[in-house]
Order: sequence, then C-alpha cells, then structure tokens
Amino acid sequence: MSQRTKIKALLESEQTHIEVTVKGWIRTFRNNQFIALNDGSTNNNIQIVVDFENTDPALLKRLTTGAAISVIGELVPSLGKGQKVEIKAKEIEVLGDSDPEKYPLQPKKHSLEFLREIAHLRFRTNTFGAVFRVRNTLSHAIHTFFQDRGFVYLHTPIITASDAEGAGETFHVTNFDLANPPKTETGEIDYKQDFFGRATNLTVSGQLEGELGAMALSDIYTFGPTFRAENSNTTRHLAEFWMIEPEMAFYDLVDNMDLAEALLKYVIKEALAKNAEDLEFLSQRLAEEEKQKPQNERSDMSLIEKLQFCLDHDFQRLTYTEAIDILKESTPNKKKKFQYPVEGWGTDLQSEHERYLVEKHFKKPVILTDYPKQIKAFYMRQNDDGQTVRAMDILFPGIGEIVGGSQREERLEKLEQRMDEMGIPKEELWWYLDTRRFGACPHAGFGLGFERLVLFVTGMGNIRDVIPFPRFPKNAEF
Ligand code: ATP
Ligand code: MN
Repeated sequence: MSQRTKIKALLESEQTHIEVTVKGWIRTFRNNQFIALNDGSTNNNIQIVVDFENTDPALLKRLTTGAAISVIGELVPSLGKGQKVEIKAKEIEVLGDSDPEKYPLQPKKHSLEFLREIAHLRFRTNTFGAVFRVRNTLSHAIHTFFQDRGFVYLHTPIITASDAEGAGETFHVTNFDLANPPKTETGEIDYKQDFFGRATNLTVSGQLEGELGAMALSDIYTFGPTFRAENSNTTRHLAEFWMIEPEMAFYDLVDNMDLAEALLKYVIKEALAKNAEDLEFLSQRLAEEEKQKPQNERSDMSLIEKLQFCLDHDFQRLTYTEAIDILKESTPNKKKKFQYPVEGWGTDLQSEHERYLVEKHFKKPVILTDYPKQIKAFYMRQNDDGQTVRAMDILFPGIGEIVGGSQREERLEKLEQRMDEMGIPKEELWWYLDTRRFGACPHAGFGLGFERLVLFVTGMGNIRDVIPFPRFPKNAEF
C-alpha cells in the first residue's frame, strides 16, 4: 500500500505543487470533471480535478457517489472559491465501485430518521462525520482530565449479580435453554445451575465496585457501557449507553460538584478547540433546524455560543427545596402549563421542571442538591434533617439531567438502616458494607451519561443520533 495523506492535512498544507496520494469516498462528481472526495479526517472535501478529455470513459463512469478511490496527483492552489487547494489528478484507481442506482445515500439532504435506518452508512454524511469526531474528542478529553489529576481508570464488571440502583431495570444474563430451564423442587428457575451459579445481569452502574476501588486508590473513574431495560423510548434514554463514574475518597459534596463542573467545562473547551469546523457545521445545522420551529421555541444562542456560555458562567447551585419553591411560584405552574403540576415537597422533578429551571429561570446549567431521601438511592449520605440526602444532579439546557451523584453514606449503621428501610438485601452486598467496616471515610462520586454530554455538545436532538449503533426497545439492528 502506498502512503496516502489524509485530506485534513492536505487542506492545511502550506506546500503546493507537490505530488500526493489521496484516498477516500466520492461524495459527488460534477461535470465529468470535479470530484468532491472525503476520507472522514475532516468535514471538508478535497476537490479532485479530472482531465476528462484524457481519461478512459469507462473509468469516468465508475466515478460515482460512494465509490472508494485512490488518486495520485499534484496539489495545486485552487482557482475555484471555497477551497485553498485542489488536486490535479494524474492517476485514478477505483478501489470499490458503488452502484449509483442502489447506493442508499444520495447527495441530497436525508432525514435523521432515514439515516438511522442506514446507520451502517450514515458515518459518510457531514452530520454524522462531525458528531462522531466530536464524540471521539470528548472521550479522549475525559481520560485526559482524570489522568492529569492522578485518577486511576478502573474497569468494573459488566456482568454483575447486583442491581446498584435497586431499580430492577436489568437485562438478565443466562446460559439456560430458555425453553427448558432447570427448576427447583418448588418449581422456580434454579439459578444455582446457571453459568455463574446465581442469577446475573448486565450492569446498570459501576458505582458500587468503583467505591471499592476508591477506598484504596483514592481517586478512580470508570468509563464503560451500562445497560438499562427501562422504557427508553425517549430522546434522552438508550438501553445501552456509556457512563463515566468517578469515585473519590475524602471528597464531600462540594468537592464533588466542583469536580463535575470542572470536568464538563474542560471537555467542552477541548471540543471547541479541537473540533472548531465540526462544531461550526453542527451549529449551522441546528440553526437551519430551528428555523422550522415557532419563534418562541427557538434558542436565542447558537450552538457555539451556548457552549461558550457554559464555560464562562458558574453553574447555579441550589437545593431541591429551593427549586420546588421556585417551581411552585413559576408562571407555567400557576397557569397550569406543566403536565405534572408542582404542588408539594417530596416528588421527583420531571424533565419539564428541570428544563424550566435551566432554560427559563436561571438560563444556565444548574446543580440541584439535597433531594428528599425517598426519591434517591440507598447509598446517599443522609442529612441531619432526617429528610434529605447529600445528592446532586446537574441539569443542562435542552437535556435535563446530565450528571447524577452524591456524597456516599460512610456510616455503617446509617447505611444498614436505610437498606433495611428500602428492602435492599444486606447479605448480597456484604462486600460493599465491608468498606464501611474497615477504614470507612467520607467519599463521593457521580455518574455522567456520556451520550447526554455528546447530545449537548453536538446540538443533536435525539440520543439515538450520537451513538454509532443505538439500542432501544424493539431495535438491535447492526
Ligand atoms: P433519568 O432520570 O434521566 O432517567 P437517572 O436518574 O436514571 O436519569 P442515573 O441513574 O443517575 O440517571 O444515571 C447517571 C447518568 O446516566 C444520568 O445523569 C444520565 O446522564 C445518564 N443516563 C441515565 N439513564 C440513561 C439512559 N437510559 N440512556 C442514556 N443515559 C442515561
Ligand atoms: Mn432513569
């Protein structure tokens, strides 16, 4: 294979009148003369100028949208506008043909819904090229952020016997012949005979195991897949998603919030710096899309402005109780515009309430703390009021909850008492409780939903469009 230069590097090249080899997929071929070639290294295509008078007509016919080609030619300053350089082709080789009658991706605008059905090809569009390059930058930036701070990347198990949240929204993992599973004498499925000798499921969170790591390594983070068999027929839920879960020894809730805010700002800044062109493209895409909406639903900031705004402002921190007071007094609540009216204290906030706080009231990211204990998990540290726990949720414009975290309950008696109240079996979590028996210390952590972050940074509207192959009810294609 001869060395080729990526299109991104060619477009940035200071040198011209040099011979180059370029490889990629044809986006369009105009007038039998101009190929727009893309190789995924950038959203921009490089123009290849074909000397059609001296090219075999049979070859010209094969230069169709979607075909993979290799070109040797001279990089020259471009005469046309829109690009600095182009390539005067000397040799063109078709590596893979693409039948224009059958190729599903025509050089025109396709709907995101249609592209979801051809997710194997949608990487070849400008929108998805940009989305997945931004996703890559964010993913790298997350590792850099934690690595620079001395965190240990910990791989927590994907198959577990615990349901960390106690929510029961797990996918079972079994080796049984489902038509004929072994039964106990009383007629129940006998998991003792299953592969692991017990019932197991795909993890819903690596937190509990993460905490075990933090109780020795001080600061750890996980970054891995998470599975929830919940109703994920929303624009913000997937059945399989990636989560980042740091756990830090000797952190309290304020340290935890500071870390989460710093992380979010850092990764957004990295995307702005490294994916300027992609974000510019996505920003324009969003602006176009917003033109279809009624005036009052349009955002007064562009995508890039929104991201910059996030960097320039402190997140608004307030308690759940303060938030409820604001919501109760809010105009949409008084005018009965909320689908779920806010009446009393103690119920969970709906996404419409979260978005009101973020988008209308504070107009910036919000961190809510100290939620009622009955709507939060058993492991959150109990406050002295007996009613609330040291939880924090970070809410983002257009997204709602992006981070959920807390200071963890390190006091054994308090933890056991809460587990009893919530019916969480203590015997099964003996290993978790051991960290409270031997060298317990204050600690905290949070979970950041990676796709919700990518959704925010790319300005896409549906979480199914920011993961390569989304998993959701009735869909596991590809
Ligand atoms: P929500 O109320 O939005 O369903 P949650 O309270 O169930 O979220 P947590 O259990 O706190 O969420 O999970 C931590 C983070 O993981 C959330 O803040 C969110 O960013 C992300 N997340 C949770 N469920 C999903 C999902 N089904 N798909 C994608 N991301 C998710
Ligand atoms: Mn949920």
